[in-house]
Amino acid sequence: MQIADVQEAIDHELVSSKAIHDKITEVAAQVSRDYAGKDLLLLGVLKGAVNTMAEFSLAVSIPVGLEFMSLSSYGSGTTSSGRVTIRQDISTDVRGRHILIVEDIIDSGRTLAWLVDELRRRGAASVEIFALLEKPSRREVEVHVKYRGYEIPDEFVVGFGLDYNERFRNLDSIAVLKPDVYQGVQA
Ligand code: 5GP
Ligand code: MG
Ligand code: MG
Repeated sequence: MQIADVQEAIDHELVSSKAIHDKITEVAAQVSRDYAGKDLLLLGVLKGAVNTMAEFSLAVSIPVGLEFMSLSSYGSGTTSSGRVTIRQDISTDVRGRHILIVEDIIDSGRTLAWLVDELRRRGAASVEIFALLEKPSRREVEVHVKYRGYEIPDEFVVGFGLDYNERFRNLDSIAVLKPDVYQGVQA
């Protein structure tokens, strides 16, 4: 399938651009209140959280640090095994710092469960999570998500940072692609 515009590839939209923006603004206001007077580090998980992080950090009104980590969890195709490895680490010492992990989506929860443990091992003062999306029906591991965005059904979604074969991260909403797109996009 030849795609001239990312919008053309959408089968159905699950979360609109406006809904994403409104939720991020609401959570940012809450976080700004909760962490007032504290040294907060926002930690984005690459690459999926990049758009959420960009918009979220601009809406937070207290001074924060920004860091990114790249993780990979090896599993059979579409599910993560929980065996997470760090592709790109942060260079900052997190000892004594309050960390808010910014994530695009929680699926099984394995990646975030691992990351929370890792940051605690490194001596963070506190570790909380903001996840823009959640698929509750897919959860395998218990992870406390303090700041929650939207719950979505068990469908493979793209947009606002989420990819299919490294494409569609630049779509401004969260959507399910037309079935023929899955055959036509080369990585
Ligand atoms: P977990 O360890 O929670 O199973 O893995 C979560 C990660 O899997 C997310 O950060 C995201 O990168 C990827 N993921 C889970 N569901 C989807 C989805 O519907 N679409 C896309 N593009 N990635 C997903
Ligand atoms: Mg992610
Ligand atoms: Mg991906």
